[in-house]
Amino acid sequence: MTAPTGNPHSDPAARRAHLNREARLRQLPDIDRDLVRLGQMPDLDRWLDQIRATGGCAAPVYLAGHSTTIDAGSGDVLRHYSTVDEPGSRLAVRCRNRRATRCGPCSREHSGDTFHLVRAGLAGGKGVPASVRTHPRLFATLTAPSFGPVHRAGPCHRARRGTCPHGHRHGCGLDHPQDDARIGQPLCPHCYDYVGHVLWNSAAPTLWKAFRDNLYHHLAARAGVGRTAIRKLVRVSAAKVAEYQKRGAIHFHAVIRLDGPDGPHTPPPAWATTDLLLDTVRTAAAAVALTPPESAAYGDVRLRFGAQLDAHELSDGDGSRITDEFVAAYVAKYTSKSVETAGAVDRRINSLTDIRALRVTPHVRALIATAWRLGGLPELAHLRLRAWAHMLGYRGHCLTKTRAYSTTYGELRTARAEHARTLASTRELFTDWDTETAVESVWRYVGQGHSPAQQLIAVGIAEDIATNREIARNSAVGGSHPVHSTLESVR
Ligand SMILES: [Zn+2]
Ligand SMILES: [Zn+2]
Ligand SMILES: [Zn+2]
Repeated sequence: MTAPTGNPHSDPAARRAHLNREARLRQLPDIDRDLVRLGQMPDLDRWLDQIRATGGCAAPVYLAGHSTTIDAGSGDVLRHYSTVDEPGSRLAVRCRNRRATRCGPCSREHSGDTFHLVRAGLAGGKGVPASVRTHPRLFATLTAPSFGPVHRAGPCHRARRGTCPHGHRHGCGLDHPQDDARIGQPLCPHCYDYVGHVLWNSAAPTLWKAFRDNLYHHLAARAGVGRTAIRKLVRVSAAKVAEYQKRGAIHFHAVIRLDGPDGPHTPPPAWATTDLLLDTVRTAAAAVALTPPESAAYGDVRLRFGAQLDAHELSDGDGSRITDEFVAAYVAKYTSKSVETAGAVDRRINSLTDIRALRVTPHVRALIATAWRLGGLPELAHLRLRAWAHMLGYRGHCLTKTRAYSTTYGELRTARAEHARTLASTRELFTDWDTETAVESVWRYVGQGHSPAQQLIAVGIAEDIATNREIARNSAVGGSHPVHSTLESVR
């Protein structure tokens, strides 16, 4: 007779118990079955610690490997961490997706980093001197021009009379509530310039660059110096976020600051005032005019910014809405959103069949199809419009900044890792920047994502963290955060 080993492969009693348990599990709905399995995981507590450390990330990346911190002088091993002792010999780390539709917790962390990054550039901190508050600073919004009338919130094109050649009325006359699905949709899709719209989105990063170059050129003209000399007198530092309007056109919100020639630590020359910067921003944007690559698909096209340019001086909070805090929160908010704001999709398109199957408005479908069609033309191949069709042609980054503006995401993460190091050994994963120590790490990707039960638990952890943060914030400021409550009002 075989001695009971507890191993279902060799011990009949253990095997019967195992089969009974499996049979009972099969009678449960999928999610419950998965939860019971998870509950039986031998090192469940450690797995929960890992998920807590990711903030309840919705799609954690699992890594296997090790990290050894060595004293560079003596060669002594100061710390050693390996995933061998972790559940499944692997470690969960954040997916770091900035989009709220992909991962709520990571997008919130990214928004927080963006807030600190933008705020440091405005008010100082994180290595930026507080004296930047005295430099000329603006918050500007640069939009796309019109590609044809679209329905808009509130009274919609009341004054326009007559019809277009396709029989659509030029005016709409309705009063659209803020959440009306028609807002951003063209009055006549046949009259709408889809080609111009997609080309503009595609050129948006180049338009922004041309605007920044113009800023220097126009500053040079005002100072009466040459284009090379101006860069020895003044530095334009900026951070900008790209956002989709309801109609699917990109626009930019930018923080623009004038520094001395060596960046934030040097004051700008006395002639470089806020008023001068306001004027220069206007003329520099108006002067941008780019020609897209020549193509038989369209005639003469000039790409420009829209006439509607919004620029405000930033205040230190003396009753004005446009404060440092406000702007930092406003910009941070948009980094967690993307093309979804325009009702488009956040994944790549692979074929025309894909486009037909999308659950989007006819307007978004027309924009994606236009990008796809233009992307097939050899003369436009370098624009890679098919790869960026789901982004309605825009292939730029959500947030960009000039080098001297403020800190970086990487530095913020390193600072957070340094802080967290004492709290959890798993944070060893981050590189140690101390000059006296060396870190030797080997990491391998072993998978990503949660099972349904794991997902449920991660969501619970993320909600707990969000609730705790909310409680901490409310008790700290004695009410809801004033910056967030005014976010919508400036739009
Ligand atoms: Zn995540
Ligand atoms: Zn309308
Ligand atoms: Zn028409």
